[in-house]
Amino acid sequence: MPVTVFEQGSTLSEESRASTFHPPTLDMLHALGAAEPLIKQGLVCPTFQYRTKKHGLAAEFDFAAIADATGHPYRVQCEQSKLTRILYEQMRGHPNFELQYDSTVKAASQTGSGVAVTIERNGRSESRSGRYLIGADGASSAVRRSLGIEFEGFTWPDRLLVISTPFDFFEVIPGLASVSYVADPERWYFLLQVPGLWRAMFLVNEDATDERVQTQEFAQMLMAGVVPGIANYEIAHTTLYKVHQRVAKTFKQGRAFLIGDAAHINNPLGGMGMNGGIHDAVNLAARLAKVWRGEADDAELERFDRQRRLVTLEYIQKYTIQNKKNLESPGDEFRDSLRSIAADPARTHDYLLRVSMITSLHRAEELG
Ligand SMILES: Cc1cc2nc3c(=O)[nH]c(=O)nc-3n(C[C@H](O)[C@H](O)[C@H](O)COP(=O)(O)OP(=O)(O)OC[C@H]3O[C@@H](n4cnc5c(N)ncnc54)[C@H](O)[C@@H]3O)c2cc1C
Repeated sequence: MPVTVFEQGSTLSEESRASTFHPPTLDMLHALGAAEPLIKQGLVCPTFQYRTKKHGLAAEFDFAAIADATGHPYRVQCEQSKLTRILYEQMRGHPNFELQYDSTVKAASQTGSGVAVTIERNGRSESRSGRYLIGADGASSAVRRSLGIEFEGFTWPDRLLVISTPFDFFEVIPGLASVSYVADPERWYFLLQVPGLWRAMFLVNEDATDERVQTQEFAQMLMAGVVPGIANYEIAHTTLYKVHQRVAKTFKQGRAFLIGDAAHINNPLGGMGMNGGIHDAVNLAARLAKVWRGEADDAELERFDRQRRLVTLEYIQKYTIQNKKNLESPGDEFRDSLRSIAADPARTHDYLLRVSMITSLHRAEELG
């Protein structure tokens, strides 16, 4: 299918956001020839841990337990911006593919037989039309707004501060895994390793202004709580995020579709936002191709909305909200439940299928 991508930036985004690729996402990228270069640029992480600030290690899980269900029984830690470049290199030069930079979509409309977008480029407005439109334009999606599709849900009062440091936590936290979530009723955080850096993500629940929270002093105060006796970290960068849980009222309106953050946003606990977006893209692209070639009728496209929207609500939204509540829950209940899962191979298997998002993909298939 001929595809034109309109990108508002002058280049592909470098923003430091998603970094965790789950096993089934790697399986999908493998089918597209994109998993191997990603793995080469990233870190292969077979295990992840839950810790509590009070007691240290609560449980460690190894994706080897679900090697029967995936060709990639591990997470890969690698920045989203590297995947975008890998995919672009694969597509570049293909006669059916075009990427236009500095092209901001301002409005979208449709008739029974086609779609049209208004693009702003170098201060001028242009109109472009096609048979289908995919809004993959992030959380503030102009496509979603223009089509009047509601973005239902809520915004947490807490913010999330991401602090990157070249400091080597392996040196000072014995037995640490590259992905470690640390529960605490006052202030949870998690540590994620990416090539060359660690990223520490902290809950910020105080009244402090955004400016105050983004100072070196505030970042150092948070980091000093990670390992007793270690302070004055070298900080590569800090970024503050608002945290939302929202899902578009529909992922399909006529000939227009929403995927990725344009369709759903959630807190980053469990690393499901980008992964869910890639699952949307793969699901939709396969269906559009069938309809384009005349191998299926429009009912095929309804399945995209049914499967991906329900799975987003039932699974991604539910478990990311649950993950946040677990990490900030007082008492030992969460720690005890992790320990009992880790002690039982059958429950560990089910649990890993769920956290790796394989269960959500099985559920999508069941929805037909
Ligand atoms: C700190 C943090 C950590 C995260 N970690 C993870 C993780 O480990 N794993 C995970 O799965 N998810 C994670 N997420 C979520 C993840 O970052 C997002 O789900 C993901 O970036 C969404 O990708 P996207 O392509 O849908 O949207 P975006 O990455 O927002 O891309 C949208 C693109 O559209 C362009 N655009 C926007 N508006 C227009 C317009 N009007 N016209 C033309 N172009 C436009 C933008 O320039 C951009 O290139 C994390 C999020 C945060 C904040």
